[in-house]
Amino acid sequence: DRLLSAAFRSEDGEGEYTLRPRRLQDFIGQEKIKESLSIFIRAAKERGEVLDHVLLFGPPGLGKTTLAGIIASELGVGIRVTSGPAVERPGDLAAILTNLSLGDVLFIDEVHRLSRPVEEILYPAMEDFALDIVIGKGPGARSLRLELPRFTLIGATTRAGLLTSPLRDRFGVICRLEYYEVNELVQIISRSAHILGIPIEAEGALEIARRSRGTPRVANRLLKRVRDYAQVRAGGMITRAVAVKALQFLEVDPLGLDHTDRRLLHIIIEKFNGGPVGLDTLAAAAGEEAGTLEDVFEPYLLQTGLLARTPRGRVATPAAYKHLGLPLKQDPVQ
Ligand code: ADP
Repeated sequence: DRLLSAAFRSEDGEGEYTLRPRRLQDFIGQEKIKESLSIFIRAAKERGEVLDHVLLFGPPGLGKTTLAGIIASELGVGIRVTSGPAVERPGDLAAILTNLSLGDVLFIDEVHRLSRPVEEILYPAMEDFALDIVIGKGPGARSLRLELPRFTLIGATTRAGLLTSPLRDRFGVICRLEYYEVNELVQIISRSAHILGIPIEAEGALEIARRSRGTPRVANRLLKRVRDYAQVRAGGMITRAVAVKALQFLEVDPLGLDHTDRRLLHIIIEKFNGGPVGLDTLAAAAGEEAGTLEDVFEPYLLQTGLLARTPRGRVATPAAYKHLGLPLKQDPVQ
């Protein structure tokens, strides 16, 4: 559970309700998605129809849940929120579906984690707004079709490829969220600081933004921790100098790497001569699970170009040597 993890941590709960943008115009960045959604929402409203089902995918902390809430408020409908692992049995989903009101949004986070029997309930629900239930057992069993109110399913997942194709095919609108640019994170941090009443200078926001790994959730979290430091050690105002000191104190380096990220790069460079090293070998050397390495640590290292994936394994790039202040090997990318 790291300070820089993109996954939700309990401390993110502070101000969460007020920090989440409620309207499309307050949602910063993701311009293409906002434009598409505003057109589809307006068109559906003008025709008096429900919005087509929407799949949002992208790394954690980029605003999928926030967008689902925004879509519901822009449509002027209710929203019901659940997640793949929370819906255990087909009956659970049937209960949720039959309780929806006409036009409502049903948001399912981690939609790729729905079990197969639950997913099968979803197909006719999405396609025909119908629920097929089987009454009785054996030869006497018969199937009954219940009509459901028309609704919009919004599914969220980290990678679209995790979905089965019958499920993926039933989404009419598919949006891929991208990591945010530094200038967008500056706007998000300034907005959050304003809402939480945190005094901050533009340069201070920039320093936090640079180390937020392209992720609003991380940006908001770092803002709160830097605020604590500024309050206790520096009279409250987050200037550039205060932000730099606070982030050093929090052990977040200028590229937004923490101790574990740097340790991984050190292992590749020092134990495996810069790589290539296979994922499993690297995981064993680092004492981590291969899956955790791949899902939690690698994406940001790959994104910053410090790590490269080759057919023969992971390689520390020249940028990684430079970042760690290590002498470059003869040919580190072999
Ligand atoms: P996800 O569902 O993708 O994991 P969330 O929607 O929970 O991400 O967003 C994480 C946090 O980041 C939320 O608290 C939200 O306030 C903030 N956030 C995300 N995207 C934006 C954005 N574009 N503008 C402002 N704040 C954002």
